[in-house]
Parts: sequence; C-alpha cells; structure tokens
Amino acid sequence: MQAYPLTLTNHLKRARAFFPDKQIVSKLEAGVFRYTYRDFAGRVAQLANVLRGLGIGQGDRVGTLAWNSHRHLELYYAVPCMGAVLHTANLRLSRDQIAYIINHAEDKILFLDEDLLPLVERLSLDSVRNFVVMLSDPHGTVPTTSLRPAHNYEDLLRSGSAHFEFPELDENMPAGICYTSGTTGEPKGVVYSHRGLSLHSLALCLPDAFALSERDTVMPIVSMFHVNAWGMPYAATMVGAKQVYPGPHPDCKTFAELIQNERVTLTAAVPSVWIAMLAELDRVHYDIGSLRTIASGGAAVPQSLIAAYERKFGVPIVQAWGMTEISPLATVSRLTAAMEDWSEKERLRQRGKQGRLIPGLEMSVVDGQGREIAWDGRQSGELRIRGPWVADRYYKGQQFADGWLHTGDVVTVDEHGFVQIVDRTKDLIKSGGEWISSVALENAIMAHPKVLEAAVIAVAHDRWQERPLACIVPKPEFRNLITKEEILEALRSHLPAWWLPDEIVFIEEVPKTSVGKFDKKVLRERFKNVQL
Ligand code: ADP
Repeated sequence: MQAYPLTLTNHLKRARAFFPDKQIVSKLEAGVFRYTYRDFAGRVAQLANVLRGLGIGQGDRVGTLAWNSHRHLELYYAVPCMGAVLHTANLRLSRDQIAYIINHAEDKILFLDEDLLPLVERLSLDSVRNFVVMLSDPHGTVPTTSLRPAHNYEDLLRSGSAHFEFPELDENMPAGICYTSGTTGEPKGVVYSHRGLSLHSLALCLPDAFALSERDTVMPIVSMFHVNAWGMPYAATMVGAKQVYPGPHPDCKTFAELIQNERVTLTAAVPSVWIAMLAELDRVHYDIGSLRTIASGGAAVPQSLIAAYERKFGVPIVQAWGMTEISPLATVSRLTAAMEDWSEKERLRQRGKQGRLIPGLEMSVVDGQGREIAWDGRQSGELRIRGPWVADRYYKGQQFADGWLHTGDVVTVDEHGFVQIVDRTKDLIKSGGEWISSVALENAIMAHPKVLEAAVIAVAHDRWQERPLACIVPKPEFRNLITKEEILEALRSHLPAWWLPDEIVFIEEVPKTSVGKFDKKVLRERFKNVQL
C-alpha cells in the first residue's frame, strides 16, 4: 500500500471540493455570521499567506487566545496546513499560567479576540513578535493598545492572496499543542501530530463513537482551547458537517437559541454545562428536538442527568472519557445491541459508566502489585492507554518510561469491557486502608431531587486518615428547605454505611476549573480545617 501521509490538509482539500456550499455559523457580538466552506477555504489560504508574510515557518508555534468562532476554525487549518504548530492557549487559566504556557511554547505570533486585549496587555511575554486582534466588528479598527505591533485580522486577510500552495507534509509533523488545564498540577504541553489528529477524527466519526456525518449540524460548546474542542471541529470539517460556533458569550441562553435556530444535531460539553442548561430549559421553553446526541465527558456524568434529558427531551447524553494526552477521546459509553433488552435501570447504570475503548487504542488496567485486574466490575486499578493519538511525552519532557500513558485514573472494568472511573488517584478518599469513590458518592447525591450539584472531598481524620465531606449546592427553590439528614437517608439505601459523608456543607456554588470541571483543589483548601 502507499505510504500516503495522513494530514489535516486532506480535510481542507476535501471540504473545499465536496462541500463548498455547506455552512459555518459563528455567533459574534454583532449577531450571527454565516458563510460557506468555499469562503472558509479561501480565507484559510489567505491566512496561510499572511502567516508566511509575518515570517512563520515550519515548526513555528502560533498562539491563540480565542473563543469558539469561525476565525478560530480558520486558524485550526491555516496554521498546521502551512507547516506551523497551533497552540490554543486556555484563556481561563490564571494570568501567570497563560504567560507561562505562551512563553514555554515560544509562540511567535498571538491571535486574540478583541475582548481579551486587556488581559494580554498585562501578560509578560518573551517570544511573541506580532499580535493579531480579531475584532468583534469585522469592519472596525484595533483600539489603542500597548501591544506592538497589533494587526487587524480582517485587514491582514484582505491583503493575503486566496491562492496558497500548501506544502506536502510528513504525517508525523506536529500540528498542534495544548496544555493540560492544570487540575492536578502545573500545565504540561501535549503535542498533536497530523497523523494523530487525522486518525482521531476518523475514530470520532465511527458509529459507536459519535457517528459524525455530512448530515449533522455540529456545535462544539467545549472550548476550542481545550483539547481542540475534543476534536469536533476537525472531524466535522473532514465529513463536511454544518458547523456552529457559540462565540464570546458562552452562556446557556446562547446555546439554547443556537440549538433551536440552527437545528443543531450534535453538541458537546462538560457535565456542569448540561446541569446548568437543564435549569435554563426548565425556566424557558426552547425547541431542542433537533438534537440526536449530546456528548459529555471530562468529568463523570451523573446518571440522574442522563435520565433527566431522556425523560424531558428524549435526547440521549452519551458519555465519553478522555484526556488532553489522548487527543482526547478514548472510551465511549454506547449500549450494545444485546443491552437494549435490559431494564431501564440497568441501561441507565451502564450509560453512567465511561464506556468501551474505541478502535485504534489499547488499554491495560493494573493493580498496586502491577497485576492485570479481572474484568469483573469489582477489582480496580490504574488505567493505562497506548495508541496512535496518545502522547508519548510532554513537550520538552522525557519520553514516558514503559510506552504506556499512565492516566492516574482508578477504574473497574465489567464483563462487557465497560470502564468505570472510580476516581482520580488524587481524589480517592482513603479511609482506614480502604478506598471510597468520591465519584460514586457525588453521583448518588446528585440523584437527590433537591440537589443541583455536589462535590465530595477527603478531609484529614485522626482515626481513619481521611473521611468524606460532601459540598452540596441545593436547587434554588430548595435553598433553605433541605437537610443533611434527608441526604444521608437517601444515601443509606444505595451505599455502604462507612461510605456516608461525615459532614455535609451547603454551599452557593461548586468552584470550577478553567474548563468547567469541579475544582476540588479549592474545596480541599477551603475545608481543610473542618473537624470531623
Ligand atoms: P485536566 O487533567 O487538567 O483536568 P483533562 O481534560 O485532560 O484536563 O482531564 C482528563 C481527566 O478528566 C481524566 O484523567 C479523568 O480523570 C477526567 N475525566 C475525563 N472524562 C471523564 C468522565 N467521563 N468521567 C470521569 N472522569 C473523566
């Protein structure tokens, strides 16, 4: 067979040739902007010319600090297809962390959305030679700024020719770089190759993964600065799906309006977004009937959430598990044909698991003694993964020792091969030598009808080393009408007595990380002195 390179340039050529009239929709400050793949491909070529004109060569890093928009999508293709490396910096990190990752990646240019000017002006950046501002008004001018030189994205594009000879690339060349969001430590860079992203795009489209096709209207809510919006923009362009980007105000109203007006069929976001959306949809009526699948992951999806969307809207939430280091997709929780005959309760329980490994990857789960665990749904161990879209090192770091990515997630595997996350190693509660799963406790608490969100953390304990503390956000209508005792009572029927939280605190909101996950680091700090 031919050693034909798997590159993102193939996506671009295919999209231009086969789907010139399909739409890309982008919510801007000024309103909804829409254009076609034909216009998109032309602007990508213009942008590639601009990059070359600004001195960007093969392997150079190009940074973005931007929301989900059509311009960010243009960068997703222009940068890697001209041979450079796209670094999508996470704009929700702290200022120090943003400066750290841009300096660490040695970005030569920074593309930023206009509203982020004040943020970028305060960063101390070593390597950036040009700033390019993406204005909310395409005909506007760049506001006065201390950034120099600060170009106007649209002006630059107008100056670039719409003809660009994209170079033949080696499929192993780097295409992108993304830093972990630092939930459990300092951000670390993960470099994605053209080959890895191409194979990951194909995998995403498999029927038992997310089944993307030309017929879909795909709206990635998950940020384009978080693991390439889970690879959705690349897969959607590859198959020629209509794409919708929610822009600089990622709120529930915007999402619901876009789903309704653009007839979105597939969308993706972390569970905390779907928890908030449920409250919005309860308050205001929107027609979300066009949705065929909601993809969710990044944190455990409560069974009660899956059940609520099914019951109220008939829309399936499909859970997936992944990591920045895995591009990110690794497992998807899709029922097999035989499971369709199971009772509703059993099906829900299965969908609450993180699911089965997708083709192309290999997994291994080993216990503390390095032994492979049995697939019995009870034994647990650390999940390790390898495959063509799995990182083998961190940027500027040493190659991982044994050829496996050690995920730091403790899991069980049932007889059907469905992985279930027990916890992150760091979040496990070690009580008297036994483990308590914070994920299982949260799942059970969030099933309570008066509870909006719950996070469970370990607190030091004289006798048992650690014991669970539950931080609960009641639904607004039950704010003062919920008691610790009724929560404990509800848990007693589902969980072993020694798992029950020693203390429950009611809080206003669970703090979230830069990508919308529960931030347990903050809660651990806040409640570290609680006496149990
Ligand atoms: P960060 O490490 O900064 O949180 P990632 O997005 O790479 O950024 O996080 C990957 C981790 O998120 C996984 O190791 C796992 O602990 C958690 N995770 C991802 N998907 C799920 C899921 N469906 N259920 C439970 N945990 C998940």
